Amino acid sequence: FHPDNIRDTLKVILQMSLVLTASASVPVIKIGRIAGQFSKPRSSSTEKKDGKELPSYLGDNINGIEFTEKARVPDAKRLFRAYSQSASTLNLIRAFSKGGFADLRQVHLWNLGFIKDKTKGKYKEIEDKISDALAFMEACGINSDNNRRLRTVNFYTSHEALVLPYKEAMTRVDPTTGEYHDTSAHFVWIGDRTRQPDGAHVEFCRGIKNPIGLKCGPTLKPEELIDLCNILNPENESGRITLISRFGADNVEKYLPKLIKAIKKEGLNVIWSCDPMHGNTIKAATGFKTRPFDSVIKEVKNFFGVHQAEGTYAGGLHVEMTGQDVTECTGGAQKISENDLSNRYRTHCDPRLNADQALELAFLISEEIKKNSKYSKKIIQAAS
Ligand code: PEP
Repeated sequence: FHPDNIRDTLKVILQMSLVLTASASVPVIKIGRIAGQFSKPRSSSTEKKDGKELPSYLGDNINGIEFTEKARVPDAKRLFRAYSQSASTLNLIRAFSKGGFADLRQVHLWNLGFIKDKTKGKYKEIEDKISDALAFMEACGINSDNNRRLRTVNFYTSHEALVLPYKEAMTRVDPTTGEYHDTSAHFVWIGDRTRQPDGAHVEFCRGIKNPIGLKCGPTLKPEELIDLCNILNPENESGRITLISRFGADNVEKYLPKLIKAIKKEGLNVIWSCDPMHGNTIKAATGFKTRPFDSVIKEVKNFFGVHQAEGTYAGGLHVEMTGQDVTECTGGAQKISENDLSNRYRTHCDPRLNADQALELAFLISEEIKKNSKYSKKIIQAAS
Protein backbone atom coordinates (compact mmCIF):
# COMPACT_ATOMS: atom_id res chain seq x y z
CA PHE A 1 0.00 0.00 0.00
CA HIS A 2 2.96 2.26 -0.02
CA PRO A 3 2.06 5.36 -2.08
CA ASP A 4 5.11 4.69 -4.29
CA ASN A 5 3.79 1.21 -5.14
CA ILE A 6 0.38 2.59 -6.02
CA ARG A 7 2.00 5.34 -8.11
CA ASP A 8 4.21 2.83 -9.95
CA THR A 9 1.30 0.50 -10.71
CA LEU A 10 -0.59 3.47 -12.12
CA LYS A 11 2.47 4.45 -14.18
CA VAL A 12 2.61 1.05 -15.87
CA ILE A 13 -1.12 1.03 -16.57
CA LEU A 14 -0.82 4.51 -18.12
CA GLN A 15 2.14 3.34 -20.18
CA MET A 16 0.32 0.20 -21.33
CA SER A 17 -2.72 2.15 -22.40
CA LEU A 18 -0.53 4.73 -24.13
CA VAL A 19 1.14 1.94 -26.11
CA LEU A 20 -2.26 0.67 -27.23
CA THR A 21 -3.66 4.09 -28.00
CA ALA A 22 -0.58 5.45 -29.76
CA SER A 23 0.46 2.43 -31.75
CA ALA A 24 -2.86 0.77 -32.46
CA SER A 25 -5.10 3.90 -32.42
CA VAL A 26 -7.68 2.49 -30.02
CA PRO A 27 -9.14 4.27 -27.00
CA VAL A 28 -8.58 2.30 -23.79
CA ILE A 29 -10.73 2.04 -20.68
CA LYS A 30 -8.35 1.73 -17.74
CA ILE A 31 -9.52 -0.42 -14.82
CA GLY A 32 -7.25 -1.35 -11.91
CA ARG A 33 -7.46 -4.49 -9.76
CA ILE A 34 -6.87 -2.08 -6.94
CA ALA A 35 -8.49 -0.48 -3.85
CA GLY A 36 -10.43 -3.57 -2.82
CA GLN A 37 -8.79 -6.73 -4.19
CA PHE A 38 -7.95 -8.19 -0.79
CA SER A 39 -9.51 -11.61 -0.65
CA LYS A 40 -8.82 -14.57 -2.88
CA PRO A 41 -10.87 -17.66 -3.59
CA ARG A 42 -8.73 -20.67 -2.64
CA SER A 43 -8.86 -24.07 -4.30
CA SER A 44 -8.37 -25.79 -0.96
CA SER A 45 -9.86 -24.78 2.38
CA THR A 46 -6.75 -25.90 4.27
CA GLU A 47 -2.98 -25.62 3.86
CA LYS A 48 -0.36 -28.13 5.08
CA LYS A 49 3.20 -27.34 6.15
CA ASP A 50 5.61 -29.66 7.94
CA GLY A 51 2.81 -32.07 8.80
CA LYS A 52 0.60 -29.32 10.27
CA GLU A 53 -2.76 -28.44 8.70
CA LEU A 54 -4.40 -25.02 9.09
CA PRO A 55 -7.25 -23.14 7.41
CA SER A 56 -6.06 -21.46 4.18
CA TYR A 57 -5.05 -17.83 4.04
CA LEU A 58 -8.04 -16.13 2.41
CA GLY A 59 -6.71 -12.59 2.02
CA ASP A 60 -5.83 -9.72 4.34
CA ASN A 61 -9.45 -8.63 4.83
CA ILE A 62 -10.27 -12.06 6.32
CA ASN A 63 -7.29 -13.67 8.03
CA GLY A 64 -3.49 -13.44 8.28
CA ILE A 65 -0.86 -15.02 6.02
CA GLU A 66 1.34 -16.21 8.94
CA PHE A 67 1.14 -19.97 9.30
CA THR A 68 -0.25 -19.99 12.85
CA GLU A 69 -3.61 -20.98 14.25
CA LYS A 70 -4.16 -17.49 15.61
CA ALA A 71 -3.48 -15.72 12.30
CA ARG A 72 -5.80 -17.99 10.37
CA VAL A 73 -8.87 -17.19 12.47
CA PRO A 74 -11.15 -14.86 10.44
CA ASP A 75 -11.34 -11.43 12.06
CA ALA A 76 -14.17 -9.08 11.07
CA LYS A 77 -12.13 -6.03 12.12
CA ARG A 78 -9.93 -6.69 9.09
CA LEU A 79 -12.87 -5.54 6.92
CA PHE A 80 -12.65 -2.07 8.47
CA ARG A 81 -8.94 -1.88 7.73
CA ALA A 82 -9.55 -3.02 4.17
CA TYR A 83 -12.20 -0.33 3.80
CA SER A 84 -10.01 2.52 5.04
CA GLN A 85 -7.04 1.26 3.01
CA SER A 86 -9.24 1.21 -0.12
CA ALA A 87 -10.50 4.74 0.60
CA SER A 88 -6.91 6.05 0.98
CA THR A 89 -5.85 4.28 -2.22
CA LEU A 90 -8.78 5.83 -4.08
CA ASN A 91 -7.85 9.28 -2.82
CA LEU A 92 -4.33 8.84 -4.10
CA ILE A 93 -5.47 7.49 -7.47
CA ARG A 94 -7.84 10.44 -7.81
CA ALA A 95 -5.01 12.86 -7.09
CA PHE A 96 -2.73 11.18 -9.63
CA SER A 97 -5.32 10.79 -12.37
CA LYS A 98 -6.79 14.28 -12.13
CA GLY A 99 -3.99 16.37 -10.63
CA GLY A 100 -1.46 16.62 -13.45
CA PHE A 101 0.47 13.34 -13.15
CA ALA A 102 -1.50 11.85 -16.06
CA ASP A 103 -0.91 14.92 -18.28
CA LEU A 104 0.27 13.69 -21.68
CA ARG A 105 3.16 16.16 -21.44
CA GLN A 106 4.48 13.95 -18.61
CA VAL A 107 4.79 10.66 -20.50
CA HIS A 108 8.54 10.52 -19.85
CA LEU A 109 7.85 10.67 -16.09
CA TRP A 110 5.89 7.42 -16.24
CA ASN A 111 9.11 5.52 -17.04
CA LEU A 112 10.44 3.16 -14.42
CA GLY A 113 14.22 2.91 -14.01
CA PHE A 114 14.52 -0.86 -14.28
CA ILE A 115 12.66 -1.34 -17.59
CA LYS A 116 14.91 -3.27 -19.99
CA ASP A 117 16.53 -1.52 -22.96
CA LYS A 118 14.46 -3.31 -25.62
CA THR A 119 11.12 -2.27 -24.09
CA LYS A 120 12.49 1.16 -23.16
CA GLY A 121 13.53 1.76 -26.81
CA LYS A 122 10.08 0.88 -28.13
CA TYR A 123 8.47 3.10 -25.50
CA LYS A 124 10.81 5.98 -26.38
CA GLU A 125 9.52 5.82 -29.98
CA ILE A 126 6.00 6.28 -28.63
CA GLU A 127 7.09 9.16 -26.40
CA ASP A 128 8.58 10.89 -29.46
CA LYS A 129 5.41 10.30 -31.47
CA ILE A 130 3.30 11.82 -28.67
CA SER A 131 5.63 14.82 -28.37
CA ASP A 132 5.29 15.49 -32.13
CA ALA A 133 1.52 15.18 -31.94
CA LEU A 134 1.35 17.50 -28.91
CA ALA A 135 3.59 20.07 -30.62
CA PHE A 136 1.32 20.00 -33.66
CA MET A 137 -1.80 20.42 -31.53
CA GLU A 138 -0.14 23.19 -29.52
CA ALA A 139 0.50 25.02 -32.79
CA CYS A 140 -3.22 24.65 -33.52
CA GLY A 141 -4.05 26.12 -30.11
CA ILE A 142 -4.96 22.88 -28.30
CA ASN A 143 -2.91 21.99 -25.24
CA SER A 144 -3.38 20.42 -21.84
CA ASP A 145 -4.00 23.80 -20.24
CA ASN A 146 -7.09 24.35 -22.33
CA ASN A 147 -8.09 20.70 -22.86
CA ARG A 148 -8.89 18.54 -19.85
CA ARG A 149 -8.74 15.32 -21.92
CA LEU A 150 -5.01 15.81 -22.43
CA ARG A 151 -4.40 16.53 -18.76
CA THR A 152 -6.43 13.88 -16.91
CA VAL A 153 -7.44 10.24 -17.26
CA ASN A 154 -10.49 8.33 -16.14
CA PHE A 155 -9.24 5.49 -14.03
CA TYR A 156 -11.67 2.90 -12.68
CA THR A 157 -11.32 0.30 -9.92
CA SER A 158 -12.35 -3.33 -9.75
CA HIS A 159 -12.12 -6.49 -7.69
CA GLU A 160 -13.78 -9.88 -7.42
CA ALA A 161 -17.24 -9.71 -5.83
CA LEU A 162 -16.28 -12.41 -3.35
CA VAL A 163 -16.87 -11.41 0.26
CA LEU A 164 -20.62 -10.87 0.18
CA PRO A 165 -21.11 -9.42 3.69
CA TYR A 166 -18.67 -6.64 2.73
CA LYS A 167 -20.30 -6.16 -0.66
CA GLU A 168 -23.75 -5.94 0.87
CA ALA A 169 -22.60 -3.38 3.41
CA MET A 170 -21.16 -1.28 0.58
CA THR A 171 -24.28 -1.46 -1.58
CA ARG A 172 -26.41 1.71 -1.74
CA VAL A 173 -29.65 2.71 -3.41
CA ASP A 174 -29.30 5.67 -5.75
CA PRO A 175 -32.23 7.83 -4.56
CA THR A 176 -32.67 9.41 -7.99
CA THR A 177 -33.14 6.11 -9.85
CA GLY A 178 -33.91 3.59 -7.10
CA GLU A 179 -31.12 1.39 -8.50
CA TYR A 180 -28.62 -0.52 -6.34
CA HIS A 181 -24.89 0.09 -6.77
CA ASP A 182 -21.99 -1.72 -5.16
CA THR A 183 -19.97 1.34 -4.19
CA SER A 184 -16.83 -0.64 -3.30
CA ALA A 185 -15.68 -0.58 -6.97
CA HIS A 186 -16.81 0.58 -10.38
CA PHE A 187 -16.52 -2.87 -11.94
CA VAL A 188 -16.81 -6.17 -10.07
CA TRP A 189 -16.46 -9.67 -11.40
CA ILE A 190 -17.72 -13.13 -10.52
CA GLY A 191 -14.90 -15.64 -10.14
CA ASP A 192 -14.56 -18.98 -11.86
CA ARG A 193 -15.28 -20.80 -8.59
CA THR A 194 -18.41 -18.84 -7.62
CA ARG A 195 -20.36 -18.54 -10.88
CA GLN A 196 -23.08 -21.12 -10.14
CA PRO A 197 -26.32 -19.76 -11.73
CA ASP A 198 -28.24 -20.44 -8.50
CA GLY A 199 -25.38 -19.32 -6.22
CA ALA A 200 -25.18 -16.34 -3.87
CA HIS A 201 -22.56 -14.41 -5.88
CA VAL A 202 -24.64 -14.45 -9.05
CA GLU A 203 -27.73 -13.50 -7.01
CA PHE A 204 -25.89 -10.51 -5.52
CA CYS A 205 -24.48 -9.30 -8.87
CA ARG A 206 -27.87 -9.68 -10.58
CA GLY A 207 -29.22 -6.97 -8.28
CA ILE A 208 -26.59 -4.26 -8.77
CA LYS A 209 -26.21 -1.84 -11.65
CA ASN A 210 -22.38 -1.93 -11.84
CA PRO A 211 -20.85 -3.41 -14.97
CA ILE A 212 -20.14 -7.08 -14.19
CA GLY A 213 -17.31 -9.39 -15.25
CA LEU A 214 -17.71 -13.13 -15.42
CA LYS A 215 -14.70 -15.44 -15.40
CA CYS A 216 -15.01 -18.23 -17.98
CA GLY A 217 -12.82 -21.27 -17.30
CA PRO A 218 -12.65 -24.73 -18.89
CA THR A 219 -15.60 -26.14 -16.91
CA LEU A 220 -18.09 -23.53 -18.14
CA LYS A 221 -20.61 -25.05 -20.54
CA PRO A 222 -22.08 -22.89 -23.35
CA GLU A 223 -25.67 -23.43 -22.08
CA GLU A 224 -24.63 -22.40 -18.57
CA LEU A 225 -23.01 -19.25 -19.94
CA ILE A 226 -26.21 -18.31 -21.78
CA ASP A 227 -28.19 -18.85 -18.56
CA LEU A 228 -25.77 -16.65 -16.62
CA CYS A 229 -25.91 -13.85 -19.19
CA ASN A 230 -29.71 -13.92 -19.14
CA ILE A 231 -29.79 -13.84 -15.33
CA LEU A 232 -27.22 -11.04 -15.05
CA ASN A 233 -28.32 -9.00 -18.04
CA PRO A 234 -31.99 -9.69 -18.80
CA GLU A 235 -32.27 -6.49 -20.89
CA ASN A 236 -29.20 -7.48 -22.97
CA GLU A 237 -27.71 -4.07 -22.26
CA SER A 238 -24.38 -3.34 -24.05
CA GLY A 239 -21.43 -2.91 -21.69
CA ARG A 240 -23.12 -4.60 -18.75
CA ILE A 241 -21.31 -7.96 -19.13
CA THR A 242 -17.63 -8.63 -19.74
CA LEU A 243 -16.74 -12.28 -20.26
CA ILE A 244 -13.20 -12.88 -19.05
CA SER A 245 -11.85 -16.10 -20.52
CA ARG A 246 -9.04 -17.91 -18.65
CA PHE A 247 -8.51 -21.32 -20.13
CA GLY A 248 -4.74 -21.73 -20.13
CA ALA A 249 -2.61 -21.14 -23.22
CA ASP A 250 -3.16 -24.60 -24.72
CA ASN A 251 -6.91 -24.72 -24.10
CA VAL A 252 -8.14 -21.48 -25.67
CA GLU A 253 -8.81 -23.03 -29.08
CA LYS A 254 -10.61 -25.96 -27.47
CA TYR A 255 -13.07 -24.02 -25.28
CA LEU A 256 -13.44 -20.41 -26.47
CA PRO A 257 -15.00 -21.01 -29.94
CA LYS A 258 -17.93 -22.94 -28.39
CA LEU A 259 -18.72 -20.08 -26.02
CA ILE A 260 -18.42 -17.45 -28.75
CA LYS A 261 -20.72 -19.43 -31.07
CA ALA A 262 -23.37 -19.80 -28.34
CA ILE A 263 -23.27 -16.06 -27.51
CA LYS A 264 -23.51 -15.13 -31.19
CA LYS A 265 -26.40 -17.54 -31.77
CA GLU A 266 -28.37 -15.97 -28.89
CA GLY A 267 -27.49 -12.41 -30.04
CA LEU A 268 -26.17 -11.48 -26.59
CA ASN A 269 -24.16 -8.29 -26.10
CA VAL A 270 -20.89 -8.96 -24.30
CA ILE A 271 -17.33 -7.66 -24.19
CA TRP A 272 -14.77 -10.45 -24.59
CA SER A 273 -11.75 -10.05 -22.37
CA CYS A 274 -8.76 -12.33 -21.78
CA ASP A 275 -7.20 -13.22 -18.44
CA PRO A 276 -3.97 -14.96 -19.47
CA MET A 277 -2.86 -15.42 -15.84
CA HIS A 278 -5.18 -17.76 -13.98
CA GLY A 279 -5.11 -20.68 -16.43
CA ASN A 280 -1.31 -20.65 -16.58
CA THR A 281 -0.25 -21.02 -12.96
CA ILE A 282 2.34 -23.72 -12.27
CA LYS A 283 4.58 -24.73 -9.39
CA ALA A 284 8.28 -24.24 -10.19
CA ALA A 285 10.78 -26.95 -9.25
CA THR A 286 11.99 -24.46 -6.63
CA GLY A 287 8.53 -24.60 -4.98
CA PHE A 288 7.30 -21.13 -6.04
CA LYS A 289 3.90 -20.62 -7.63
CA THR A 290 4.69 -18.96 -10.96
CA ARG A 291 3.41 -18.21 -14.48
CA PRO A 292 5.66 -18.56 -17.53
CA PHE A 293 5.51 -15.30 -19.50
CA ASP A 294 5.56 -17.35 -22.73
CA SER A 295 2.28 -19.02 -21.71
CA VAL A 296 0.76 -15.62 -20.91
CA ILE A 297 1.73 -14.37 -24.38
CA LYS A 298 0.49 -17.56 -26.01
CA GLU A 299 -2.93 -17.36 -24.34
CA VAL A 300 -3.34 -13.74 -25.53
CA LYS A 301 -2.26 -14.61 -29.09
CA ASN A 302 -4.65 -17.59 -29.20
CA PHE A 303 -7.44 -15.39 -27.82
CA PHE A 304 -6.91 -12.90 -30.67
CA GLY A 305 -6.65 -15.75 -33.20
CA VAL A 306 -9.95 -17.33 -32.13
CA HIS A 307 -11.78 -13.99 -32.22
CA GLN A 308 -10.40 -13.28 -35.64
CA ALA A 309 -11.60 -16.68 -36.87
CA GLU A 310 -15.06 -16.19 -35.34
CA GLY A 311 -15.44 -12.59 -36.56
CA THR A 312 -15.75 -11.22 -33.02
CA TYR A 313 -13.69 -8.64 -31.12
CA ALA A 314 -10.98 -9.37 -28.59
CA GLY A 315 -11.98 -6.42 -26.42
CA GLY A 316 -10.08 -6.60 -23.15
CA LEU A 317 -7.14 -7.80 -21.16
CA HIS A 318 -7.22 -8.75 -17.47
CA VAL A 319 -3.84 -9.24 -15.79
CA GLU A 320 -2.27 -9.47 -12.36
CA MET A 321 0.68 -7.08 -12.45
CA THR A 322 2.69 -4.63 -10.41
CA GLY A 323 4.80 -1.57 -11.14
CA GLN A 324 7.59 -3.12 -9.05
CA ASP A 325 10.60 -5.01 -10.36
CA VAL A 326 9.52 -8.35 -8.90
CA THR A 327 10.59 -11.84 -9.99
CA GLU A 328 7.32 -13.76 -9.77
CA CYS A 329 6.61 -14.83 -13.39
CA THR A 330 9.38 -16.58 -15.33
CA GLY A 331 10.63 -15.33 -18.73
CA GLY A 332 10.24 -11.94 -20.42
CA ALA A 333 13.05 -9.60 -21.48
CA GLN A 334 14.78 -10.09 -18.10
CA LYS A 335 14.78 -13.85 -18.79
CA ILE A 336 13.72 -14.68 -15.22
CA SER A 337 14.47 -18.34 -14.54
CA GLU A 338 12.94 -20.61 -11.91
CA ASN A 339 16.10 -20.10 -9.87
CA ASP A 340 15.68 -16.30 -10.05
CA LEU A 341 12.16 -16.39 -8.59
CA SER A 342 13.42 -16.18 -4.99
CA ASN A 343 15.28 -12.89 -5.71
CA ARG A 344 12.25 -10.61 -5.41
CA TYR A 345 9.21 -12.84 -4.91
CA ARG A 346 6.90 -10.50 -2.97
CA THR A 347 3.36 -11.61 -3.70
CA HIS A 348 1.11 -12.90 -0.91
CA CYS A 349 -0.86 -15.09 -3.25
CA ASP A 350 -0.61 -15.07 -7.03
CA PRO A 351 2.50 -14.36 -9.15
CA ARG A 352 2.26 -11.02 -10.98
CA LEU A 353 3.82 -9.68 -14.17
CA ASN A 354 6.48 -7.11 -13.39
CA ALA A 355 6.44 -3.71 -15.09
CA ASP A 356 8.72 -4.86 -17.90
CA GLN A 357 6.64 -7.95 -18.70
CA ALA A 358 3.39 -5.94 -18.54
CA LEU A 359 4.70 -3.37 -21.03
CA GLU A 360 5.97 -6.10 -23.33
CA LEU A 361 2.47 -7.58 -23.30
CA ALA A 362 0.96 -4.22 -24.27
CA PHE A 363 3.32 -4.03 -27.27
CA LEU A 364 2.31 -7.53 -28.31
CA ILE A 365 -1.38 -6.64 -28.15
CA SER A 366 -0.89 -3.48 -30.16
CA GLU A 367 0.74 -5.66 -32.85
CA GLU A 368 -2.25 -8.04 -32.80
CA ILE A 369 -4.65 -5.11 -33.11
CA LYS A 370 -2.67 -3.51 -35.92
CA LYS A 371 -2.88 -6.77 -37.88
CA ASN A 372 -6.63 -6.36 -37.97
CA SER A 373 -8.15 -3.11 -39.08
CA LYS A 374 -11.61 -3.93 -37.69
CA TYR A 375 -10.32 -2.73 -34.30
CA SER A 376 -9.79 0.80 -35.46
CA LYS A 377 -13.08 2.00 -34.04
CA LYS A 378 -13.31 -0.29 -31.05
CA ILE A 379 -12.46 0.25 -27.43
CA ILE A 380 -10.06 -1.97 -25.54
CA GLN A 381 -10.88 -2.57 -21.90
CA ALA A 382 -7.83 -3.19 -19.76
CA ALA A 383 -8.02 -4.42 -16.20
CA SER A 384 -4.95 -5.13 -14.25
C1 PEP B 1 -8.64 -13.83 -9.78
O1 PEP B 1 -8.87 -13.17 -10.80
O2 PEP B 1 -8.06 -13.37 -8.77
C2 PEP B 1 -9.06 -15.25 -9.75
C3 PEP B 1 -8.92 -16.01 -8.68
O3 PEP B 1 -9.52 -15.67 -10.93
P1 PEP B 1 -10.41 -16.97 -11.28
O4 PEP B 1 -11.70 -16.82 -10.57
O5 PEP B 1 -10.55 -16.83 -12.77
O6 PEP B 1 -9.61 -18.18 -10.89
